[in-house]
Amino acid sequence: MEAEELILTVPELAEIQKVFKEALQQNFHEVEVKVVECPDLRKEPFRMPVKGLGGCPGIADVGGVKYMQPIPQRSRKYDLVDVGNIMGYKGEYSIIGAGAGPFPETGCNCELMANVHKNVDGEIKSVSQTAKILPPLNYNVDLLISSKFAILGNFFASQGLTGPVLEVKVKRRTGEENFITCMRKALAARFGGQPVGIGGVFVVPSGKLKIHIMPDFADTPLKNETDVNNWLKFFDFPAPMVFYSVFVSEDPGYDLRLEHTHGHALLDESGHCSSNHGGHYHYDTTPDEVEYWGYFSVAEKLFRIDRPSPTENLTSLLLGF
Ligand code: ZN
Repeated sequence: MEAEELILTVPELAEIQKVFKEALQQNFHEVEVKVVECPDLRKEPFRMPVKGLGGCPGIADVGGVKYMQPIPQRSRKYDLVDVGNIMGYKGEYSIIGAGAGPFPETGCNCELMANVHKNVDGEIKSVSQTAKILPPLNYNVDLLISSKFAILGNFFASQGLTGPVLEVKVKRRTGEENFITCMRKALAARFGGQPVGIGGVFVVPSGKLKIHIMPDFADTPLKNETDVNNWLKFFDFPAPMVFYSVFVSEDPGYDLRLEHTHGHALLDESGHCSSNHGGHYHYDTTPDEVEYWGYFSVAEKLFRIDRPSPTENLTSLLLGF
């Protein structure tokens, strides 16, 4: 698989703390941003397979929307273990993030909430979840034992170690930006020309979320935004939900997805989701009651894997396949 490596700017956490705080205060009534030692993320509500987000933190942007539309490129099948190898991890590591599920395994195209851990003995443990549409309008969330995915994915990887992270807590949205976009744009404004990449987990303990779930591949080409929005299924799901988020302040010409956040209802002890609520995060729909609370780490490198060629979209349309 073709991979390009980009060294990211890694500002001091204290500096990012200031940038996030100022921006979030424009968008939320109560804002608390601190640099803390990462709490044990294996505990509720996160129930991660690893303790923290530290140790060679990196981002992988794999495939892309151009492999999903206008026509799905079913040959684009990936494995998070290959992603971990490309990123250079030798021993234990953890990968979280947002992507498209492995349609050959799940039987149809679906959303992936990736959460995979490789231990020192090389064993893979997945508490990833997939969210799929059961036609015509039902949906479900399932535990995915496999580390495979397809078409596209945005991931944050680390050795899963504890260490300093940014703790962000906000309540009551007063502005129009969603939680992640607010922080991403603030980074872009402060560090223009120096791409900064962030990954982390957050929980929404109260409120409701606008979420989409991709149904199975469309029968007809998705030629524009209207086609895509007619194809996607949108829902208002209730909290509590846990999210995995990856964002980059800017794209220095690698066809990067700047932010991608997927989430699901809380997991039980066996790694199963407590309800069928899960999918791609857009924003909350309950500004007065919403709360966000999460932990974020700064990536040192970004790997652009299997980037679609600039003409991918155009070629597909012209050939009509
Ligand atoms: Zn998504």
